[in-house]
Amino acid sequence: MLSHSRFALTDEEKAGGLILACRAVPKTDIAVAWLGSDDEAAAAQARTWQGTVVSIDDLTHDIRRVRIRPDRTDALVFFAGQYADIRFGPSPARSYSMANRSGDPELEFHVRRVPGGAASGYVHTILRPGDRIVLEAPRGSSYLRESHCGPILCIAGGSGLAPIKSIVETALAHGMRQAIHVYFGARAERDLYLVEHFETLVRRHANLVFTPVLSEVRATARRTGAVTQAVADDFSDLTGFKVYVAGPPRMVDAAMEIAFGRGLNARDLHADVFFTPQGQPLSGAAG
Ligand SMILES: Cc1cc2nc3c(=O)[nH]c(=O)nc-3n(C[C@H](O)[C@H](O)[C@H](O)COP(=O)(O)OP(=O)(O)OC[C@H]3O[C@@H](n4cnc5c(N)ncnc54)[C@H](O)[C@@H]3O)c2cc1C
Repeated sequence: MLSHSRFALTDEEKAGGLILACRAVPKTDIAVAWLGSDDEAAAAQARTWQGTVVSIDDLTHDIRRVRIRPDRTDALVFFAGQYADIRFGPSPARSYSMANRSGDPELEFHVRRVPGGAASGYVHTILRPGDRIVLEAPRGSSYLRESHCGPILCIAGGSGLAPIKSIVETALAHGMRQAIHVYFGARAERDLYLVEHFETLVRRHANLVFTPVLSEVRATARRTGAVTQAVADDFSDLTGFKVYVAGPPRMVDAAMEIAFGRGLNARDLHADVFFTPQGQPLSGAAG
């Protein structure tokens, strides 16, 4: 390797087996293969699929887990962190993030009930196992970058835990060994879910840290305050991190401000704002 800037190849990347091809001089004949880049995945075309709801259960008082089996198994392939635009019955198409790993036999979604919400209201009151749905997937560019060797920070608010679960489980299953910090923000104890699931993962994987943070509770053994404040308190420098954020707009805004203020490169932040985009049609086919 010829001399290069330390920032171009961090120690973690070097330890992960990466080189800078532009500064490497081959000493013998070598075989070179183009593996593509993570970012090319975003170009994958979403397609329209049909499927059946196989189960619905309550994760909290206002978040339901909905499992869907698509008619075709190709619909089960996506990048961890991506989402689907789903039309439940006559309700308008809305975006929901896959919480499972690509290739699992069913797609898992966590749907929070939004007061007065058309689609989430339907899911919480009318949707039943056996119902047919239409979905358009996979969508979104806020997915796990598997070529990244540096530390990972995930910040989830409420049902924002869905894509973060997929990202974390995929990273662990694929042998990513760098530190993975997960912060899960909720109002009170009753808004937390899958805590035991993550605690089990923490026991199995020494590189995973899981921190639930409650914003509206004082007397608790858990961390309290805004989840983004907990991140701000725990990290003074996010240089070299990848940061994945999913949740309500205000939380995502605060997370971005903190991350960039702590040296994160803009291209290393991947965020999904859980809100109905303005102009989304109130009826009609998905997508
Ligand atoms: C990329 C992406 C991924 C998403 N993934 C998920 C997911 O995994 N789980 C999930 O529960 N949601 C997710 N959402 C949000 C979801 O798409 C809907 O916006 C949400 O379910 C509300 O839809 P609705 O039809 O029930 O409410 P709407 O009928 O669209 O809205 C009803 C009212 O609530 C307001 N509103 C809309 N969303 C919210 C909100 N989040 N908080 C407060 N008020 C709101 C609207 O402005 C409106 O006044 C995601 C959104 C995006 C863009």
